[in-house]
Amino acid sequence: MLLRVENLRKSFGGIKAVDGVTFEIEEGEAIGIVGPNGSGKTTLYNLISGIYLPDEGKVIFEGRDITNLPPYERAKLGIARTFQIPRPFGNATVLENVAIGAMFGREKLSVEEAFERAEEYLKLVGIEKLKHKEAKLLTPLEKRLMELARALAMKPKLLLLDEVMAGMNPVDVDRIIELLKKIHREEDIAIVSMVEHLMQAIVKFAERVIVMHQGKILVEGEPEKVLNHPKVIEVYLGK
Ligand code: ADP
Repeated sequence: MLLRVENLRKSFGGIKAVDGVTFEIEEGEAIGIVGPNGSGKTTLYNLISGIYLPDEGKVIFEGRDITNLPPYERAKLGIARTFQIPRPFGNATVLENVAIGAMFGREKLSVEEAFERAEEYLKLVGIEKLKHKEAKLLTPLEKRLMELARALAMKPKLLLLDEVMAGMNPVDVDRIIELLKKIHREEDIAIVSMVEHLMQAIVKFAERVIVMHQGKILVEGEPEKVLNHPKVIEVYLGK
């Protein structure tokens, strides 16, 4: 078992954003976390990556209780995440952005090694030609690919992707799914992809889907079964 979250709870004022969530992720699994806006997905990510501490519950990574570790220490252990709205560093180039990520990852790298690692992952995601461009000049898709390269360059064991397909056209969505499948095959890391919609896209990628609703897990299991589950249909059609 790679990750276990145990009875996690986090409230903001009176809002129970995450309300008693327990699940496990195995090494190398491909997981989809699906749920309507406000269902607690982002809060759950923030609890796993250490941006928030839970009011209650535990986060266990490779058998170690990391509930109270700060984000950078979790990154060193092998938890990386991307953000829905990428925030590249100032005027840095694409290559520099990815190299900075590599330096904050699981392995201790020299600057030179970090740049080599960055090149390698820019190639993997297919934007190595843009490496000398200022990151802020990239298109939204290119920025997302750069974020992915940055997270991968950290050599994580667990990669948390935040709405990596949001706002993309169907061609780009297919491109990202193929890329994620390739990464999953080649890199041997557990990948969690959080999505609000795009239900079919997540079926193509995930081996297991966890559906969140009002801070709780509504249904969990095989993608096809979960997405045709009456409770899931009710939550999405009832909106
Ligand atoms: P999702 O990612 O599924 O859209 P969130 O985890 O962002 O869900 O939000 C879950 C609930 O917690 C929502 O009602 C949201 O308004 C609330 N919430 C999340 N973060 C905060 C915060 N920092 N302050 C106050 N309320 C928050």
